[in-house]
Amino acid sequence: MSNKDIVVDVKNASKIYANGFCALDNINLQIKKGEIYALLGANGAGKTTLISSICGILPLSKGSISVCGFDNKKEYKLAREKIGLVPQELTLGMWDSVIHSVEFSRGLFNKSKNDEYLEFILKKLSLWDKKDTYINRLSGGMKRRVLIAKALAHEPEILFLDEPSAGVDVELRVDMWNFIKELNKQGVSIILTTHYIEEAELMADNIGVINKGRLILQESKNSLLKRFGSTQSIFSIKSNSNLNNIIKSINTKNDVNLKISNEGQIIYSHTNDDNKIQSLLNAFVAEGLEITDIHTKKAKLEDIFIDLINNRNKNL
Ligand code: ATP
Repeated sequence: MSNKDIVVDVKNASKIYANGFCALDNINLQIKKGEIYALLGANGAGKTTLISSICGILPLSKGSISVCGFDNKKEYKLAREKIGLVPQELTLGMWDSVIHSVEFSRGLFNKSKNDEYLEFILKKLSLWDKKDTYINRLSGGMKRRVLIAKALAHEPEILFLDEPSAGVDVELRVDMWNFIKELNKQGVSIILTTHYIEEAELMADNIGVINKGRLILQESKNSLLKRFGSTQSIFSIKSNSNLNNIIKSINTKNDVNLKISNEGQIIYSHTNDDNKIQSLLNAFVAEGLEITDIHTKKAKLEDIFIDLINNRNKNL
């Protein structure tokens, strides 16, 4: 991969706050142009600290970060120009109208006026009818969408979204994510944090998991789901008084670990890319079991995330 394909390059980054707390511990992270990267982690894991460091708002204690090839400390202005940041906190001037506030954000980056573009983003964020409304009169979800509009006002190449859906209702959240996908298709790289892991599962190409300031995993979402995501195949059967013995014997012969649920169903847990369903069906028939239903439950990113954090916690 050439350097031009890397839009964010974090090298050996550590952050120790003034009180001595180590919030980032030797992070190495690369974001590729055009990807959607979801940074996941429990409360206090270090996500905001990392995003603020990449955006050049928070100085690192050690290490370096470049944004589109610009060192975010030595070439702060050039690096910052590439970034649109939607912060977690609702940091807005309350005594300004939506449109002025967005125009102001564009002006900060010395971009020439572009009314058409601002109209486009405000419409996409369902804010056009509020353009002349003072921000203090907006709801929390509307204010969050204003933050997104402000972050996009200067046409950045990378968009950071720190908990963008907090307080945004379900319907508008879908519109918001659709718009973000559309921006991504136009080439904007997206880095997001969210506590709604199903949103990360829906949106992200790649996932990073941060725990106690350390990046414990970076992987494509698909390979993560394939590698860790176990699927349960659940077989309902006509009752059979010899079921325990039959399952013990099938387990041994097929090198599997079938379980019997309280409802008398046979549960087969396997990875998404490894299953022996055909041979098990043959074995059930050979043992005289009568199958009445089969269904599968696929693991979600949320389950994998919780397992990862918990296992890691035990090991730390
Ligand atoms: P959340 O999901 O709750 O937003 P986060 O992953 O974004 O959490 P951070 O806000 O980056 O977490 O905080 C990481 C850790 O650093 C936390 O333990 C937090 O208390 C601590 N921290 C943040 N800011 C400071 C500060 N200025 N001084 C000392 N510690 C801080």
